[in-house]
Amino acid sequence: MLINTTGRRADRLERLLEISRHLGMSQELDTLLQSVVDASCELTESRSSSILLLEEETGMLKFVAGSQIEKEIIKRIRVPLENSIAGRVYTQCKPIVLHYARTDPHMFRDVEKALNSNVDSMIAVPMIFQGETIGVIEAVNKRDHGHYSDEDVTILETLASQAAVAILSTLMLEQMKEAYTELEESERKKSDFIAIASHELRTPLGLILGHATDLLETSVNEEQRSQLEVVVRSANRLKKIIDDFSSFDNLRGGDHRQFHKKIILNELVREVTASFQENARSRRITLMVDIPGEDIPILADRDKLCLALSNLIDNAITFTERGGHVLVFIEKLPGYARVSVIDDGIGIPAKDLPHIFERFYQVEGHLTRKHGGIGLGLSVAKAMVELHKGQIWVESVEGKGSNFSFLLPVRDEMKTAGEAPRPATRPFV
Ligand code: ADP
Repeated sequence: MLINTTGRRADRLERLLEISRHLGMSQELDTLLQSVVDASCELTESRSSSILLLEEETGMLKFVAGSQIEKEIIKRIRVPLENSIAGRVYTQCKPIVLHYARTDPHMFRDVEKALNSNVDSMIAVPMIFQGETIGVIEAVNKRDHGHYSDEDVTILETLASQAAVAILSTLMLEQMKEAYTELEESERKKSDFIAIASHELRTPLGLILGHATDLLETSVNEEQRSQLEVVVRSANRLKKIIDDFSSFDNLRGGDHRQFHKKIILNELVREVTASFQENARSRRITLMVDIPGEDIPILADRDKLCLALSNLIDNAITFTERGGHVLVFIEKLPGYARVSVIDDGIGIPAKDLPHIFERFYQVEGHLTRKHGGIGLGLSVAKAMVELHKGQIWVESVEGKGSNFSFLLPVRDEMKTAGEAPRPATRPFV
C-alpha cells in the first residue's frame, strides 16, 4: 500500500515536471491558460478548473480561462474580492480547501447559478510572482467524491507558481508585440505623411523655382533681380529641406535600395560643385575645385552620392562669411578616394564636434539661428556615404573653418573604408 502511494506521488510529480516544462515554452496566451486549466484538472483529479486574474478597471476577479464547456459563460462573470473564496485567496495570499462547499457561507454562488451546477468540493490557490498575487487557480469537484489532500494543495501551488511566471512573461511578450505593431503603424503613417507632403510641396516649389529663374534670366532691373534672387535662394533651401526629409525617412524606413553603377568620381564632383557656383557667387564666396587629371572610377549610386556631397558644399557656403572661400578636392589614395569640402568659415566649437553627424543636431539653437535647415543634412550625408562602404569625418576649428571629408573605396578595390588609414589633413583654405 505504501509502495503504491509513493509510486503515485512520484508519477504526479513527474507529470507536474513535464507540464511545467511545457508551460515554459513560448505559446499564445489563450493556449497557455488552457494548458494550465487542463493540467490543474488532471493533477488534482478535478471535474473542472479555472483561472482568475484581477481586472484593473473593476477591482474584481475575472475568469480568463476555464474547463472547455464552461469557459464562455464564466468569462462574463466578475467575482468580488469580498464574499468569495477566490477573493479571500487573492487578498490573503493563502490556499483554501473546501470539503463541503454547498454549505460554506463564503461561497460566491453566481457561478453555480450561471452554470446550473453545484460545487461540492473546492481547492483554490494564489498565483504568486515575486511576492505579489496576480490571480487565483481554482479546481472544483474532486472525482469520485473524494477529498482534496495536502498533496493536492502542494501540487496545485507548484503549478500556480509556474503558471504565474509563464502567464506574466506571455502577457509581457504580447504587450511588447502590440506596442511594436503600434510603433510600426505610426512609423508607417509618418512615412506616408512625409511622402505625400514632400510630393505635394515639390510640385508648386518646382514652379516657383522655374518661374523665378526664368524671370531672373529676362531683363529685370537691379532691385527686382535682388528680390528674385532671394526667392530662388529661399526656394532652394526649402527644396533641400524636403529632399533631406524624404531621404532620411527612406533610410529609416529601411529603404536601402541602391543603384550602383560605375561612375567617374571626378565628373560627379565637378558637376555637383558647378551647380553651387551661382549660390556661392551670390554670397560673394569663392568656390574652387581641385580634381586630379587621372579618372577615378567608383561603384556608386549617383543620386545618393550627389546628395551627400551637395549637403557638405551647401553647408560650407552657408557657414562661411562673405568674401570667404570653399575648396572641394579629390585625392587618390591606394584603394580609396578621398573627397574633402574645406571652408574658412565660422568653424564648429570643439564641444559640438562629437555630435555633429547626429540627426537634428544644430550648433546654434533652432530659434536663435540665422540659417535655415533642420539639422538633417549631415546625418543624411553620413548615411549616404556609409551606404557606399565609406567613412565620413570632420575636422574644424571655431573661427577658422571646417574640413569635411569622406573616403570611398575605388572600383576593383572595394574594401571597407573603415580599415583605411586616414591621410594627412590639408589645412583650411
Ligand atoms: P542643417 O541642414 O540644419 O544645416 P546639418 O546636419 O547639415 O543641418 O548641419 C548641422 C549643423 O552643423 C549646422 O546647423 C551647423 O551648425 C553645423 N555645420 C555643418 N556644416 C558646417 C560648416 N561647414 N561650418 C560650420 N558649421 C557647420
